[in-house]
Amino acid sequence: MERALTVAVIGSGPSGFYTAGALLGHKELTVRVDMFERLPTPWGLVRAGVAPDHPKIKSVSAMYEKTAAHERFRFFGNVELGSDVTREELVERYDAVVYAVGAQADRRLGIDGEDLPGSVSAVDFVGWYNGHPDFRDRTFDLSGRRAVVVGNGNVALDVARMLCTPADQLGQTDIADHALEALRSSSIEEVVVIGRRGAAQAAFTTAELQELSEMAGAAVEVDPDEVSEVSDHEDELGTVAKRNLVVLREYADGSATTGARRVALRFLRSPVEILGEDQVTGIVLGRNELRTDDEGRAAAVDTGARETVETGLVLRAVGYKGVQIPGVAFDESRGTIANSDGRVDGGDREYVVGWIKRGPSGIIGTNKKCAADTVKTLVTDLAEIGGGTTATDPDDVEKWLRERCPDLVDVDGWSAIDRHERARGEADGRPRVKLCDREELLAAASEV
Ligand code: NAP
Repeated sequence: MERALTVAVIGSGPSGFYTAGALLGHKELTVRVDMFERLPTPWGLVRAGVAPDHPKIKSVSAMYEKTAAHERFRFFGNVELGSDVTREELVERYDAVVYAVGAQADRRLGIDGEDLPGSVSAVDFVGWYNGHPDFRDRTFDLSGRRAVVVGNGNVALDVARMLCTPADQLGQTDIADHALEALRSSSIEEVVVIGRRGAAQAAFTTAELQELSEMAGAAVEVDPDEVSEVSDHEDELGTVAKRNLVVLREYADGSATTGARRVALRFLRSPVEILGEDQVTGIVLGRNELRTDDEGRAAAVDTGARETVETGLVLRAVGYKGVQIPGVAFDESRGTIANSDGRVDGGDREYVVGWIKRGPSGIIGTNKKCAADTVKTLVTDLAEIGGGTTATDPDDVEKWLRERCPDLVDVDGWSAIDRHERARGEADGRPRVKLCDREELLAAASEV
């Protein structure tokens, strides 16, 4: 019998797990999948990105656990590509390598004052409240009365909701304990969310927009003038934009005027400068108008009018950006690995999936189709190569890795962490209390 093909999947978020699932379930090929993850824990943004008050979205992890239980699947956690193992070492040992590393950096605004203390990236803030070990030591000044969130995507809404939701409510979730403690003593009363284009161009989804009042219990303020006439051709807008407008107009009509805290949604404003000497004291916003550009897109154009909003905390939620892997073709302008149909340009049996393939957009489920497409390309290529490459025997790969990375966390190690965290949460009726420190995670992993 021909040996199973071996595939290394780098990254254990949704795109990595959907890739593993598609490979393991392939009807004609027998594939073994080794999943590499730089953290001791799997699930990527499902653990470290999805907001703690969205347990339903997080429940997709049950499917990933099923994949992880497959007899031809292995998890190699706490192993970092680049420092622990190199791309070349993996390419040499596997029939194929799939990069599913997501978009780990944040997009910049490119304005003065962006690096002042108090101007922070939502990527860091999200990682912090979700207990990502890299962000656990971050501190955010929540002593002012107002925060400004720049961006009109769902991450901006997540951040606004976290700042407004009463701490007792957050205390029922899997939010990191350090964040819960900080948010409990937060003085923030108002969150101003800034969109550079109009209400009809916001990247929010409707459920998330409604949650500001329904889940966070915030008063939501929208200027009626900014949502009354958004386009000469409103009937031509997409479904989500139309639904969003219904909710925004309800807010403008005063449907959510009471709440412990307030969210003000402001459109047609771009950040021009962040003010302050040693610390953010305010943000200058430029007023925009919309003009249709050459591609038919509604573009924000500066009118020259300015306004200043006083604040000590600016959260930049203007999107994620991919990070280059040394030796792998990178498209700098898009922040993605250069590829065609998931095959890495100039690669050596290397493939790409998820945000690092298509850019940081779409919901978790979008990665399923994305993974299926990449797997199709990969399988077609490997079928052409024929009887397999000179991939190393899987037992020898594991031996090599364990020697190289003595603190490697396998599926049993992760299960031990999972049990530990769930047990910690049980007494307080929380889904889990996360371990946020690498050493604590490794100690728990060794309790197998
Ligand atoms: P996003 O949806 O791409 O939104 C980015 C926002 O930043 C846009 O409003 C964009 O405006 C704005 N922006 C970009 N550059 C800017 C600049 N220089 N100045 C001012 N504004 C700027 O990104 P995201 O919020 O990070 O979300 C990433 C993906 O994850 C999205 O697909 C999102 O739906 C998904 N997500 C889903 C959920 C959920 O389902 N609950 C939660 C979180 C994230 P323009 O449109 O004008 O470019």
